[in-house]
Amino acid sequence: MKRVLLKLSGEALAGDKKTGFDEATCIGVAKQVKQLVDDGIQVAVVTGGGNFWRGRTSETIDRTKADQIGMLATVMNCIYVSDIFRHVGMKTEIFTPFVCGAFTSLFSKDAAVEALEEGKVIFFAGGTGHPYFSTDTGAVLRAIEIEADAMLLAKAIDGIYDSDPKVNPEAKKYDEITIQDVIDQKLAAVDLTASILCLENKMPMLVFGLNEQNSIVETMSGTFTGTKVTV
Ligand code: UDP
Repeated sequence: MKRVLLKLSGEALAGDKKTGFDEATCIGVAKQVKQLVDDGIQVAVVTGGGNFWRGRTSETIDRTKADQIGMLATVMNCIYVSDIFRHVGMKTEIFTPFVCGAFTSLFSKDAAVEALEEGKVIFFAGGTGHPYFSTDTGAVLRAIEIEADAMLLAKAIDGIYDSDPKVNPEAKKYDEITIQDVIDQKLAAVDLTASILCLENKMPMLVFGLNEQNSIVETMSGTFTGTKVTV
């Protein structure tokens, strides 16, 4: 694989605190991504926003406004993680689908691909730019647009299970599963909109635990212990 999109869940960025950032976790991620970049792999990153805010967080305010706050949460996450990446020695650029003044660049496929080819790690912040979508969907959309070879889905959980292992101690982890089965069995790995986009555009996914030792590098080097989602 030469070009990948890495999706980091907001929750995973927060470590045990579940909210805000866990700096050690983010530095660990940055060091792993640097190994990939040093090996010549082009990396685009999408972060979730759940460590700050989700559209579902408020039942009082209008959903569109709540989702706008969620999208802005992902911009804050990308500014933070991008700067941690710079701290460990990578060049970065953040793209958003809406104008954020001088904080980010406006997304276009050409600008994003050009930045990757210059050796930058690029961040897609702000999701799709529209309410009622998730960052999983935004991540698949951008992976397809930049013609990534696969999407790496780094989560707080270490793969896809047939039921929730927090609830069912007998839950079984899949080594490999088709995206059609993920959809048919309504498995909670990614939301339905994101799954359908993967299916229709043949975007494979590798799902693994961000908190597992060296998991990003191992996923790329073939010693992968998460779940491979085939298309
Ligand atoms: N969001 C949105 N449109 C997008 C991506 C994200 O409205 O294209 C908002 C939505 O409110 C979501 C929040 O940003 O709840 C954080 O995104 P994330 O995907 O982490 O949320 P989750 O799926 O965990 O709710």
